[in-house]
Amino acid sequence: MISDEKFVNTIKLIALKNAIEFDNKIKLDVVISKTFSYSKFLATPNGNLKDYIPDIKTIVSELEPLSLENKKTLYSELLSKENDYMRENDKYGKDRDRSQTHVTNHENSDASRESKSKENILDFQLPDLSDAVKGNVVTRFPPEPNGYPHIGHAKAAIIDEEYAKKYDGKLILRYDDTNPLKEKVEYYDAIKDGLDWLGVKPQIIKNTSDDIEKLYEYARKLIQKNFAYVCTCAPEVIKRNRINSIACNCVSNSVEKNLQHFNEMVNGNYVGDRSNDTGSATSSTAILRYRGNISSLNTAMRDPTLFRIIKDGDHPRTGSKYSLWPTYDFAAPVEDSLDGVTHAMRTKEYELRNELYYAILDNLDLPKPRLIEFSRLEFEGIPVSKRKITPLIEKGIIQRWDDPRLPTLMGLKRRGILPEAIRKFVMSLSITLSETKPSIEILESFNRKLIDPISPRLFFVKKPIRICIDSLGVETVEIKNHPTVDMGKRRVAVENIIYISNDDAIRIKTGDTLRLMDLCNIEILSNDALKNDSIGGDSNECVIHAINKGNEVSHKIPKIQWVSDKDMIEYTILKPLPLYTGESYNENNLVIDKGYAESYVSNLPLGTQFQFVRYGFCKVDDKSTAIFTHR
Ligand code: ATP
Ligand code: MG
Repeated sequence: MISDEKFVNTIKLIALKNAIEFDNKIKLDVVISKTFSYSKFLATPNGNLKDYIPDIKTIVSELEPLSLENKKTLYSELLSKENDYMRENDKYGKDRDRSQTHVTNHENSDASRESKSKENILDFQLPDLSDAVKGNVVTRFPPEPNGYPHIGHAKAAIIDEEYAKKYDGKLILRYDDTNPLKEKVEYYDAIKDGLDWLGVKPQIIKNTSDDIEKLYEYARKLIQKNFAYVCTCAPEVIKRNRINSIACNCVSNSVEKNLQHFNEMVNGNYVGDRSNDTGSATSSTAILRYRGNISSLNTAMRDPTLFRIIKDGDHPRTGSKYSLWPTYDFAAPVEDSLDGVTHAMRTKEYELRNELYYAILDNLDLPKPRLIEFSRLEFEGIPVSKRKITPLIEKGIIQRWDDPRLPTLMGLKRRGILPEAIRKFVMSLSITLSETKPSIEILESFNRKLIDPISPRLFFVKKPIRICIDSLGVETVEIKNHPTVDMGKRRVAVENIIYISNDDAIRIKTGDTLRLMDLCNIEILSNDALKNDSIGGDSNECVIHAINKGNEVSHKIPKIQWVSDKDMIEYTILKPLPLYTGESYNENNLVIDKGYAESYVSNLPLGTQFQFVRYGFCKVDDKSTAIFTHR
């Protein structure tokens, strides 16, 4: 068996990635060829690569039986391990730097080539599109401006954009703004800002409302061809008839009458025609319906609504000019077709509506884009839907759209998730139809890999416990901000009093030796932490007494972080947790950790990402508060 753990890890990553991309199937030949192309950049292992084929086969056969979900979880775990390897690699590089300057440059460039080639091999590709011609592919992302964009929208927008890129095509951003009751200027702007942040760059930006007159024209065409009729039945009657496959009397109105009524609807002076009412209509309202098949097994075909009158509330773009608005069922196919969309991607819940989409375009003799479905993104306990997020804000349960507990793009940004991580995550999900909820940890491991090299490593102690150290003998220590990336150093003033976190304090016993990272080793002389009720360092009493035991670094003694009494600030970390447990609201979805941080942290500009050693990655939210990103 290949002995190099790192090499085995890479083969596993290649195999798992292949399974994630191709519906849980691992193609052995692909894994072998990718491993070979990757290994060209490796200094080790040596020997004939063909000799590794049996090992690759074994690895693949061990991974194959895992469920797709388990494969994804394992993938994210191995990816995190990759970080550690890279760090190790850097460290060895640096050590060599000092001792053998003459080989370093050459070897370092090997290492960076290795990491580059690995990036490429481990980057996810989308499966090919049918009927895609390079240069001619047009995709579109059609959000409704009725809320703030979230990571589900990121999935759709990124897939749309990546396909356009893959085929040198075009991406259209089309605001699907056909319901004045729900849409606001604020939301158009939020969507644009969200896409800008994600780095999604549409070639064309437009609104469905720009085309409203054209949509009326196509509706008239449908009526003329007798594929649509005006219906004046009461909503509850329409609903009941649909369920029972009963056609209402409006279906037999003449084309002329339908056209006349439709034009009145367009002009906003429709007064109502109750002559055909089959039930207890109370308002003089009317809708345009598609003449489908009222007894179709596909309920979406049971004479669905194409246009409805919405009189209350001005439209954010057209004001009160129009009061007749198309439904999604009519606007989506006609707009896609008129926009020249070749491949229209949407989430799987629309699948039943595909028949209607194609039927409308057939009836209108318009070109038909190819519809492609992908699964809706959901996470356990986190609502990835405007319909669920907006009420949380409206009811004041959550105050801000950028609350780090929310999966809104603003929330993810505030929490410290990078747009590149979202893109990698979306690409790793690919366009599979499987309904499983991916683990948010996959997103986190992509993010960790990206932020680790840009995050200084600092100290924070939760629930501080005071230690007095005899014969410390230093007044300042200089600590590197990152062990392997050059981020400068910081100076920390120390005296004989320092703090460690309660979690560590309760584990140490009299006589233990431990290392205070970057400071010194200490031996514990006495420890009252278990008896201590007054956590927080208000009292000047020392809870733990210790003595300096020199500076020799040993792997055998535990290493813990600390904060100096002479150089600290009170600090708070907000830790977002899932909003729901199952169906019920999680009352404890925001943990507040309080403690001491080294005062250096107070100088970090807002938004800085850093790591609190042995705690996790954080992002500065204000002078004395950070938001926990992930471990
Ligand atoms: P919501 O429930 O958030 O209102 P929606 O589908 O009504 O969802 P739209 O603004 O109409 O939101 O969506 C624009 C595009 O984004 C659509 O193509 C939709 O399929 C896609 N989309 C929305 N939510 C998700 C999600 N959770 N996962 C994947 N794609 C999504
Ligand atoms: Mg919608």
